[in-house]
Amino acid sequence: MRIDLETCIGCGLCVAYCPMGAIKMNEVAVIDADECVECGVCFRSGMCPADCFIEEVHPWPRSVRTLFSNPLSEHKETRVPGRGTEEMKTNDVTGVYKKALVGMTAEMGRPGVGTRFTDVEKVAQALAAAGVKFAAQNPVTYLMVDQATGKLKSEVLGEKVLSAMIECLVPQEKIPAVIRELKEVAQHVDTVFSLDIITRLKPDGSVPWEKMLHELGVTVSINGKSNIGLGRPSAEVYQ
Ligand code: SF4
Ligand code: SF4
Repeated sequence: MRIDLETCIGCGLCVAYCPMGAIKMNEVAVIDADECVECGVCFRSGMCPADCFIEEVHPWPRSVRTLFSNPLSEHKETRVPGRGTEEMKTNDVTGVYKKALVGMTAEMGRPGVGTRFTDVEKVAQALAAAGVKFAAQNPVTYLMVDQATGKLKSEVLGEKVLSAMIECLVPQEKIPAVIRELKEVAQHVDTVFSLDIITRLKPDGSVPWEKMLHELGVTVSINGKSNIGLGRPSAEVYQ
């Protein structure tokens, strides 16, 4: 994102719109390019009275910022806009999370904080060390050079994005190792992340891993969401 410094009247209206605090005021408004995640909020809001914001098309690897931060950009491999993945939302149709498998998503970064891929890589490597299988149709997985180790392409490591979701499948017996690895790596990342656990419920409606997670020191906050669409459940889902 760029501001046309010739036309900026220095009103300061734009500062509050940036979710990363990347717009600073001197005589005119200036964008800190290292902190800007290319989310496009300043441009799309139309708040600037002098129409100063200029959206730029960046070459690789800076273009990864737009892919992970601008909800209007479509990820080229997954073809999903926004954060580039919808696997967990479509389990009733796709059956990705089968019985005895838990889906886990590390949601890294938030508006106001963001995340650099150096930290995304640390968490991915911790998950890999615990023996997870990374989700195929996920934009972070597409950035990996080695899914066995969670290593990412070196050129993206310094890039910053609003948020990134690492999705994986975890066999039930590996849940303790994953939680241990994540607790350890959480001490070494310079951002925030939350862990989503996606699972089928038992026939009585209870969460199968809740006791285990509680014993591992994880407080489970149960959130439910129903996406109503036109998908036809796959026969595999119910096996
Ligand atoms: S809103 Fe527009 S004119 Fe006002 S400071 Fe920001 S860039 Fe300049
Ligand atoms: S593109 Fe997003 S992060 Fe960059 S200056 Fe605009 S609002 Fe801030």
